[in-house]
Amino acid sequence: MNTMFDFLDRIQVQKEPRPEQYLGEDGLLYCGKCHTPVQCRITFEGKERIMPCICKCQKEERERQEQRMKEEEQLLYVRRLKAAGIQERHLQDWTFASATDTPSIQMAKRYTENWKKVKAENLGLLLWGDVGTGKSFLAACIANALLEKGVPVLMTNFSKILNQMGAMYSDERYRYIASFNRFSLLIIDDLGIERNTEYALEQVYAVIDERYKTGLPLIITTNLTISQLRNPEDVAHARIYSRVLEMCTPVHVPGHDRRTTIGKSKQELVKEVLFS
Ligand SMILES: [Zn+2]
Repeated sequence: MNTMFDFLDRIQVQKEPRPEQYLGEDGLLYCGKCHTPVQCRITFEGKERIMPCICKCQKEERERQEQRMKEEEQLLYVRRLKAAGIQERHLQDWTFASATDTPSIQMAKRYTENWKKVKAENLGLLLWGDVGTGKSFLAACIANALLEKGVPVLMTNFSKILNQMGAMYSDERYRYIASFNRFSLLIIDDLGIERNTEYALEQVYAVIDERYKTGLPLIITTNLTISQLRNPEDVAHARIYSRVLEMCTPVHVPGHDRRTTIGKSKQELVKEVLFS
């Protein structure tokens, strides 16, 4: 106890108000700005003492600073998540903000809005449709919206995964595949365009199967039709596709061709800029 008394006695009590402070009727010093005390009376072991404390405006300033720091940390965290989760720069610009409001986009928005449930229930998607229908765009919109919320997402494709794996030993390959588990959502773009070798199909299956074991959601985009996925050409494809269909609900992305639309608007721009 003595040490506590010593400690309290050593705190020097400020007697004279500093500029912007004044002495209140209760004998405590007050802040001239917010008119709340910068001192308080505490009783410890029967002895009353005056102790320094912070006034309302200082407290608010401190909270503002803490809030700013939290926001900066969150911003930094999201930036790191994005850099790790979407390595292709152009995909980072594909967001709901830049999307035309179609039923597919609305579906994708609801997917991100209901993320807690989506994750808990492990709701995967298989976005399928013709080339250029905007399946990758849709997937990237989902990825970016979730990354903004601080959800770890990885968007990649099998060509990239297989390239990475090419130089690895088998235990390294396993660790690499397992590293996808730290992403709450895994998006694999363009299933079906990767190499068709026995080795490649083996690795594709390993990635899908590992995801299956984690019970975390998977989104796949593909140009393959549902009938191609349901009637695979051989056993190697069959086991991949049956796992995918087990994990991912097929959602058809109808084509009004996004690339054509972009092309058309470019044509209109050329007309406008160069010929009018
Ligand atoms: Zn104050």
